[in-house]
Amino acid sequence: MDKLKHLAPETDTVQGLHYADPQTGSIIPPVMPSTTFARDENYELISPSHSYGRDQNPTYLTAERILTRIEGGQAALLFSSGMAAAAAVVQSLKPGDHIVIPKVMYWGLRNWMMEFCAKWGIELDQFDLNDPDDLEDKVQPGRTALVWIESPCNPTWDVIDIETAAEVAHAAGARLAVDSTVATPVLTRPIEFGADLVMHSATKYLNGHGDVVAGALVTAKQDEFWEKICKVRAEAGAIPGSFEAWLLQRGMRTLYLRVRHACQSAMAIAAHFEGHPGLESVLYPGLESHPGHGVAAKQMQGGFGGMLSFCVKGGEKAALAMVGRCQVFIRATSLGGVESLIEHRYSIEGPTSPIPRNLVRLSVGAESVDDLIADLDQALG
Ligand SMILES: *Cc1c(COP(=O)(O)O)cnc(C)c1O
Repeated sequence: MDKLKHLAPETDTVQGLHYADPQTGSIIPPVMPSTTFARDENYELISPSHSYGRDQNPTYLTAERILTRIEGGQAALLFSSGMAAAAAVVQSLKPGDHIVIPKVMYWGLRNWMMEFCAKWGIELDQFDLNDPDDLEDKVQPGRTALVWIESPCNPTWDVIDIETAAEVAHAAGARLAVDSTVATPVLTRPIEFGADLVMHSATKYLNGHGDVVAGALVTAKQDEFWEKICKVRAEAGAIPGSFEAWLLQRGMRTLYLRVRHACQSAMAIAAHFEGHPGLESVLYPGLESHPGHGVAAKQMQGGFGGMLSFCVKGGEKAALAMVGRCQVFIRATSLGGVESLIEHRYSIEGPTSPIPRNLVRLSVGAESVDDLIADLDQALG
């Protein structure tokens, strides 16, 4: 078994950790929908780790074990959504704690954190990604409990140096949590750069097929804080259904193939459209012109992700008209699936959004890249 430790993470992912059912030899794990687990005649549980299905569902184990393995952590938990996973981290803090988050990040989570922290008595500060000293200025040594970051950041794909953020957080006695939904463990393993927790919206790349809403956390250490998070999931019950957890482990088998393909196509699209007369800019960390390129090259291995944005000349109206002309890209929110999606972020986020009104976000999928480029070319006119 020791030899397995040396296999590449994609081998373990593709094979579901070399799964074979001990009774039948089935190479695919079963869906286990049972909500409760039986006891023997002495009233002992037949399986000591399974009593009630609120959070002891054996169907979760395959995806949790693969995630633990490929993120290089000690344990993982699945949740009913990415938001539920992030919420469990914040709910494990105490009133009076202080947290620091970036000004630009997944807007739904930023909004929730701002509202929840205000009600729960947690002080929240936001740091400016473009000021290299701002995170250090915002953390309060001895008081800050959590620094939360996302990299690359939705939807400008600014890159945060995880290693530096971990040093700043740890020097202040805080934990670092990284929303790694966009980078995926294929490209970045935040724990290797010092992160304490990694969060995923498994709805996106991990599942990859647009048919499951789920979330996940991976911890570097099974410490007291992790125990609190486990308790929040067990008691508050933000768990995925058995079938969703099963679909997730199935989707994850092709994670490496899908992400690598998306990186190649996104790079080709970014390179093709950089300098296009209809665009003010192409935002993609793989381009040397992107301010985060240097840090991205250090902390993303094998590609720069499948997400990029266009800032369209002519403002919001021109951006919406361009989106309206697309025939291959599907107009829809979300990201990380095999179907390429296009969206006008400002319309989704509304008037409080810091997102430029002419920004169009692309999630590059698994279609022929020539079709995708031709579609964007004709849409830009
Ligand atoms: C989608 C998303 C989330 C929220 O995840 P859900 O699964 O939709 O709850 C959080 N962070 C990022 C970066 C996302 O893209």
